[in-house]
Amino acid sequence: MSRPFLIPPSQWTVRSAPRSMLLFYAAVEVAAIVLSLLPSSRPATQQDWIRLAMLLAIGAIQAELSRRTERLRRYLASSVNADMTSVWIFAGALELPSPLAVLLTVAIYLHLWGRVWRQQLTRPAHRTVFSASTVILACLAVGPVLGLVDGETPFVDTSPNLRGLAGVCLAILVFTATNSALVMIGLKLRNPDSGLAEVTGGWDNNILELATLCLGGMTAVVLALRPYLLPLIVLPIVMLHRSLLMRQFQEMATRDQKTGVLNSVAWHDTAVKELDRATRQLSSFGVLMIDIDHFKRVNDTHGHLVGDTVLKHVAGTLENTVRKHDSVGRFGGEEFVVLLPATTHTEVVMIAERVRRAITALVVRDHGTAVSGLSASIGVAVYPNCGVLVDRLLVSADNALYVAKQTGRNRVVSLIESGDTG
Ligand code: GH3
Ligand code: MG
Ligand code: MG
Repeated sequence: MSRPFLIPPSQWTVRSAPRSMLLFYAAVEVAAIVLSLLPSSRPATQQDWIRLAMLLAIGAIQAELSRRTERLRRYLASSVNADMTSVWIFAGALELPSPLAVLLTVAIYLHLWGRVWRQQLTRPAHRTVFSASTVILACLAVGPVLGLVDGETPFVDTSPNLRGLAGVCLAILVFTATNSALVMIGLKLRNPDSGLAEVTGGWDNNILELATLCLGGMTAVVLALRPYLLPLIVLPIVMLHRSLLMRQFQEMATRDQKTGVLNSVAWHDTAVKELDRATRQLSSFGVLMIDIDHFKRVNDTHGHLVGDTVLKHVAGTLENTVRKHDSVGRFGGEEFVVLLPATTHTEVVMIAERVRRAITALVVRDHGTAVSGLSASIGVAVYPNCGVLVDRLLVSADNALYVAKQTGRNRVVSLIESGDTG
């Protein structure tokens, strides 16, 4: 779906954005403009302009080669944190006087906005402008760091030593810290109820951002010492970008989109592998089937959107309450399953009890609403006592869940008498 060049003001998403967020966006944008206009510590030479032209050209070529990938990535996920622009922008921040580094950032953003982001309803213009402003401020923060390490001279030409490495590392840290801090504050103001993982974007995204900055450092070196080798960097970056799309496809195939836990097919595959392992090693494992009590009431009282947020928090609570190697899945609606490898019956019941208590303690806040007083009924099954096939174990856990519902909800039920297995 392509969107018209100009959207009528009545449909601007910025109109429904929180005031505090808009004030912060405006402050960041004004700071980016004012600081960009301050005189640079060194005048731009003809060589700087040539380097700017080379970065612009190579950035545009890579963006064009990656256009389809970028478009798909942004259609598949509402929030895509990492992109490849930092490679060129960070190289510019290291190599160019600050006004040219700002010019490079603006040109790269305008190009991507015109060719990809503009057509996507997921990325309104005010967010793109804010994002460009945070990157400009990050670029401007790099200059003083380089000044500290290397005086007034261009950076990589004169630092083929440990001092140079320390300088680039420091520049990467300052760039990423400035950009991330501003983005995180913006996200928190956009939705004050968002959790730490949502605001920080998770490890994977941050490591990826660091990787692109490292490539930016390498690009700066190539630009300064062997500029004719610059085209060699393009293909690896196009492929790295494409591998992110592949990872996104893989995540979509195995993860439940709403809650982020395994979907039922992926959970079932994991359970079959565990069953094989337990059969070979003559050990036991457990299955929990969890159904939130009276969930319809949550929807009826607070609406479906809050209901969705509650489901996300329940899924997060399950993942935080069980062990790292346990697998949490969403079976459908408000039903979750947990696989507990190498666990005896007594342990399975203990873990189920811990999960039940964690759900009762949950308070979910979403856009000014607080939902508490949740509970769940949990049915327990254990291999091999309850069956030697995954489906048989699921039926057994479901039967136990049915009994839990019938006998008053908010409880754990196991249909095995007692005593350990395995
Ligand atoms: P019980 O204690 O018997 O389990 O009562 P319940 O209300 O939880 O059970 P029921 O199966 O009658 O209703 C499940 C509700 O879960 C109905 C449905 O609207 C809601 N639901 C299912 N999937 C979703 C979802 O993805 N998002 C939201 N918000 N609600 C969902
Ligand atoms: Mg149900
Ligand atoms: Mg229910």
